[in-house]
This record gives sequence, C-alpha cells and structure tokens, in this order.
Amino acid sequence: MYDEVLLLKLGEVVLKGLNRRRLEDLLVKNVRTALRGCGPVEVRESQSTVFVEFDQENPDVDAAVQAAKKVFGVLNLCRAYRGSYDWETLKRQTADYVAPQLNRAKTFKVDARRSDKKYPLDTPKICMLMGEHLLNEFPHLTVDVKNPQVVVTIEIRDGNAYVHTAPEKAAGGLPAGTGGHGMLMLSGGIDSPVAGYVMAKRGLKLSAVHFESPPYTSERAKEKVLTLAKKMSVYTGPVHLWIVPFTQIQEEIRDRCREDLFTVIMRRVMLKIACKLAREQNAGCIITGESLGQVASQTLGAIQCTDEAADLPVFRPFIGTDKQEIVDIARDIDTYDTSILPYEDCCTVFTPKHPKTNPKLEEVLKEEAKLDLDALTKDLAFEFIRVKPWDN
Ligand code: ATP
Ligand code: MG
Repeated sequence: MYDEVLLLKLGEVVLKGLNRRRLEDLLVKNVRTALRGCGPVEVRESQSTVFVEFDQENPDVDAAVQAAKKVFGVLNLCRAYRGSYDWETLKRQTADYVAPQLNRAKTFKVDARRSDKKYPLDTPKICMLMGEHLLNEFPHLTVDVKNPQVVVTIEIRDGNAYVHTAPEKAAGGLPAGTGGHGMLMLSGGIDSPVAGYVMAKRGLKLSAVHFESPPYTSERAKEKVLTLAKKMSVYTGPVHLWIVPFTQIQEEIRDRCREDLFTVIMRRVMLKIACKLAREQNAGCIITGESLGQVASQTLGAIQCTDEAADLPVFRPFIGTDKQEIVDIARDIDTYDTSILPYEDCCTVFTPKHPKTNPKLEEVLKEEAKLDLDALTKDLAFEFIRVKPWDN
C-alpha cells in the first residue's frame, strides 16, 4: 500500500443524526465512483473521515485529489502521509514529508489530534516535541501559534499516525442520491447544466431529458448536450440521459396553434413528457434552469401556464438568480465554454416574432386542445444514453 493517503472530511453529513449511516455509505460509494479513473484505490469511512488509500506504487495522487474534491458531501480534503506509530520514526518521516513547504516558509506551528487514547503522548506533548524537532531540522523557522504560514497536523487514529498540512476546500453539499432522484430538463444553454449541478449538490441523483428537433437542430447540437452532461457528471455522478425526438410535435404546434402562444405551448408539452418520463424512472421532481424575466417564456404569467402542465414539483433553483451569477458557476464547473457554442436548440426553432409575454391559461388550454397530444406523445422513440464522467 502506498504511504500517501487522502483524508476527506465530511460536511453537513455529520449533522444528519439517524440518517447518518446511510449518508456516509452513499458518500463512500460516490467517492469510489469518482475515483474510478485513478487506478486501484480503497475507500472507507471511519469517525467522520473518508480514507482513500492507494493500492499501487506511484499512483497519480494529484488526479485523485482533483476528482475527490468534486464529490458532494466532502467539505475539505487533506493529502496526508501515513507515518509510523513509533514516535522517533514519525518525527523523521514528518520532517521529510513537510520539508518542501517548510523550506519555503518562515513561520509554522504543529497541531495534533488524538482519537487513539492509548498513544503514549498526549496532544500538547505531540505538539511540543514535534515542534522542537522541526525547529532543529529547519533552523530558519520560528513558531507562530496565532498566524503561522504552515500548520503541520499530526492525527493519531486507528493505529496510525497521519501527517498533513492545510486542508483544501472541496465541493461541500450533501452526497448525490441522499435527497432522492430528479429529472433535469437539459438544453444546450448555460443555465440548465448549472441547475442540475446545484440540485445534485443538495443531494439529488440526476437523470436528464433533452428535446431535439432534427433536421432543424443538428447532430452537433446533440453532441454539445452530451458534452455538457458529461462535464456535469464529473460532479453529479453518472447521468441517464434521454433524447426525445420533438420535431413532429413542434411542427404540429406551429401548424395548428396561435403563433404568439407557440413557445408556452411547446414548453407545456415538454414538461408533460418530462413528468411522464420522470414517473417511469421513479424520479420525484423536474429541474429546469429558468430564471424570472430572463426571456419571454420565463415571465410570471408564462411560468404559471407552464407549471400547470406538471404533475410533479418543478424545481427552478435559479428563479431569483442573476445571469452573471449563473455564468460564474458555469465557468467554475467548466460547462460555460461548451454552453456558448453556437448550435441551434429546439427552443429557438419556429420562435414567434411576437411571443405573448403574459399568456392566460384559458387561452393557452384552448389552443393546446387543437393538438392530439395523446397520439403525438404515445410512441416517441426516445434515445437512451448512459453518461459517465470517466468515459472518453
Ligand atoms: P438554458 O440556458 O438552460 O438553455 P435558456 O435561458 O436558454 O436556458 P429557455 O430556452 O427558455 O431558457 O429554457 C428554459 C429551460 O427549459 C432550460 O433551462 C431547460 O431546463 C429547459 N429546456 C429548454 N430547452 C430544452 C431542450 N431542448 N431540452 C430539454 N430542456 C430544455
Ligand atoms: Mg435554452
């Protein structure tokens, strides 16, 4: 076993009382999934910390750190050295392991935690003796307990001694899957992949549905959605994606319904199909990237008309969020550059010149009744794709 390990510290998970065991089990499973591309590893939980141990010589620890940092439910992460239980050996190992950081620093302090009460030294003793040793080894250093440049932490637990410096911030949130299962309406735009990301961060497992309208929308538009789903899945875990052929439905709406209501009727039909699919897949809610007032279909009136078509709760995490804030997250999670590629989305096909910005439900229902929705939605040939973060 390699002598470097990762210690993942849990966030809100530890507060969840009775459910804690289940949340921790899911988190361990999600960490294993996230590290699939990082070679053989062992992942286990003990005392509110998830341990990642490497089962090979010279593993790519950097890659594992990057992947583990993205797992929801992990508050922060330490790259640590598993040192000896023997104090004299541990002193030597600690000085070696933290040498690169201490060589660059002027001040430091030692911090210690000991859950193993059988260890011969208590925490003040560990801090004092290790501090002395490091001062001897690195005479240019001084101790600063208030504001040190480097904190060397020694954790004695489970019959091992772990050495690390400052933890790195990780994704936070709750483990994906602990809050149920949601169906994301995924367009090729900026907002919907980010909406999926933030809801997965609150513990939802994600499936996704995308509507396409070939030949009005291209193969490249679909590729773009697959790329977005994949980038999102790096955080959310694998995503089941359904692609729904929407051309005929859109043409029927265009041919039969009032032009100014085209968009709201189209969105209602999308939502109905999404709800039906969600129920079949045991998902309990729909997620969209809508934001109040962003476009004509996202006025209060339009949202009232759209919502009426749903028989599941519709989560719109960005309803009160400015575009720029959504863009900032999209950049952080690396979906932005893909989202702005200029391929047609089915929403921009047949858009009316003057969409009604405050449609009334009554008139919308009257127009929608001109469609034979049962026949139109009965035998849709969905395409199903499993999107996994580790596939090329
Ligand atoms: P986005 O940036 O997410 O595309 P948008 O600002 O372009 O959003 P709309 O086109 O009105 O806004 O779409 C609003 C929401 O409807 C999207 O966030 C998404 O959840 C859903 N949606 C739109 N188009 C599609 C599609 N082709 N397939 C699946 N869902 C869609
Ligand atoms: Mg869109």
